Amino acid sequence: MSYINGETPKSKLRSAIVAALLAAVIFWAAKAYISGLEPISAERESYRLGTVVRLTVWGEDKTALDHALDDSMAEITRLESLFSVNIADSDISKINANSGQFVEVSPETKEVLALAVKNAAMTHGAFDPTIGPVVKLWGIGTKNARVPSDSEINAARALVDYRKVSIHDKGGRTYVAVGKGQSLDLGGIAKGWIADRIAALLKERGVKSAIVDLGGNIYALGESPRGREWKLGLRHPQKPRGEYFAAVDVADTSVVTSGAYERYFEKDGVRYHHILDPSTGRPAQSDLISVSVISKKSADADALCTALFVMGLDRSAAFLKRHLDIQAALVKGGNNAVFITPDLKGCFKLTDGTMALEVLK
Ligand code: AMP
Ligand code: MG
Repeated sequence: MSYINGETPKSKLRSAIVAALLAAVIFWAAKAYISGLEPISAERESYRLGTVVRLTVWGEDKTALDHALDDSMAEITRLESLFSVNIADSDISKINANSGQFVEVSPETKEVLALAVKNAAMTHGAFDPTIGPVVKLWGIGTKNARVPSDSEINAARALVDYRKVSIHDKGGRTYVAVGKGQSLDLGGIAKGWIADRIAALLKERGVKSAIVDLGGNIYALGESPRGREWKLGLRHPQKPRGEYFAAVDVADTSVVTSGAYERYFEKDGVRYHHILDPSTGRPAQSDLISVSVISKKSADADALCTALFVMGLDRSAAFLKRHLDIQAALVKGGNNAVFITPDLKGCFKLTDGTMALEVLK
């Protein structure tokens, strides 16, 4: 056997080992360099679902991020066209226009409605998706906003009852009916349900860090691009948009806040806001000014936020004691005390020094 350049089997093995080591060092250095780079981000902002929708994603491949964002926006538009009461041929508008009769609906409508009814039962109707007649009567947030008469309020209130929603499966299709005169309004849950959907879609596309913000209904996907928990601010109920009273550290979690300050009108010095009490047919006379719910599932957080606001502090505290899996921060008006559930202690930080913090028992 002859060896070119005088290489012996031993020296050949040595140079192979050196080459392999060198390749490993180069590969390691390149990887360290790449992971040290700031991830690329991409963003879309648009007016949807009656609010400002902002999606922000981080990753390494700009084209893939852009595709994921475009598909997410298209999905939001598609879901809005199924759930909105302002779109005449949406599933919800068809159910409302044909109250008392079964109407075929999409699987998505079935899912969001089933979840709405579940949350209504759990909160004994403080959250109720059949609030439609009351929402329409007050017209809060529209140019038709007005204070209705007592008899109008009583007539609308009498129609609100989630137990009259029927969901029926037959031959692989789903049919839904509400009671005669009833109408659905998913304004208190749809944004949360859609946020869950968009987070799932982004995950499917391999996105590991994202903020899905549907008008303040937030889903923080994965960890922040720096590989830490996200720090999310909770909107201050008495200060301009963009100011926070507290921050929570979360990963893969939704944070939803409901407050009387979001949508309202004023008449003769009285403020009428958009969170309605199904038992009175009027804006909820709550002692709370803001409720945040922190949950893995944004749909539940959305519905429960609305419900806890309606319940007020004492009923909310009793409810949260029975449902220890729900994490919430409640702000009481007047003295501005903040009440949090015990499990939030580790990740909740009050940033407004004028507010007092109390942990619920
Ligand atoms: P949110 O901003 O999530 O608290 O939801 C408020 C919206 O949900 C309102 O604009 C109404 O469309 C609807 N809504 C108001 N009160 C209730 C209620 N008690 N239960 C269910 N939906 C409600
Ligand atoms: Mg809600």
